[in-house]
Amino acid sequence: SNKSLLLGIPFANINRHRALDIVTKTLDQRSSSNLFFINAHCLNTAYSNSEYKKALQKASIVLPDGSGVSYACKILGGHLTENLNGTDLFPYLCTLFSKKNKSIYLLGAKPGTVDQLEALIKLQFPALKVVGTQHGYFPPSETNKIIDQINHSGADVLLVALGVPKQEIWISQHQHKLSTTLNIAVGGLFDFYAK
Ligand code: UDP
Repeated sequence: SNKSLLLGIPFANINRHRALDIVTKTLDQRSSSNLFFINAHCLNTAYSNSEYKKALQKASIVLPDGSGVSYACKILGGHLTENLNGTDLFPYLCTLFSKKNKSIYLLGAKPGTVDQLEALIKLQFPALKVVGTQHGYFPPSETNKIIDQINHSGADVLLVALGVPKQEIWISQHQHKLSTTLNIAVGGLFDFYAK
């Protein structure tokens, strides 16, 4: 099977090509999917945070990010097919979303950072529609207003950069109110690209 298990967290032990295939399929589904990434720090966090653990267990796709996961697989007598972190996958996802004519909404990071990323995407992927941005330092009282804005934007894909485990818990908690098809937790990705 291409499902592996680490500390009770199932993840897809597959290569990039197959991962992009699965993402493509989720875009055509009526129900929404969550895509999360796990590294060694995530596994540690999940061990003591049951809400985060549950969010990971319920996700449609969990991909392995980093050498810690690879090492853990080896210790357990297994083998990691490919390290599939969000940062490396991002350009492929942008290409895929623009080919499929799917729009994206960027939620998270500092105000300047999320705006810089929007500008960078417009430059590097002109065919990809960024239909909205919102920085990640809003009070909980604004959550419903932000969800309304995301839904109003018509975004197909929501990228959430609020850090682990806040972002996975946030997505999981609000998935039923979001009209997006795919929600992706991306951690420090906005900071990485917005330079
Ligand atoms: N962040 C945010 N709101 C918060 C906490 C964090 O928008 O309340 C952002 C932060 O600015 C950064 C990202 O979430 O862009 C988390 O980055 P980090 O590298 O800490 O992520 P991790 O790899 O721990 O998930």
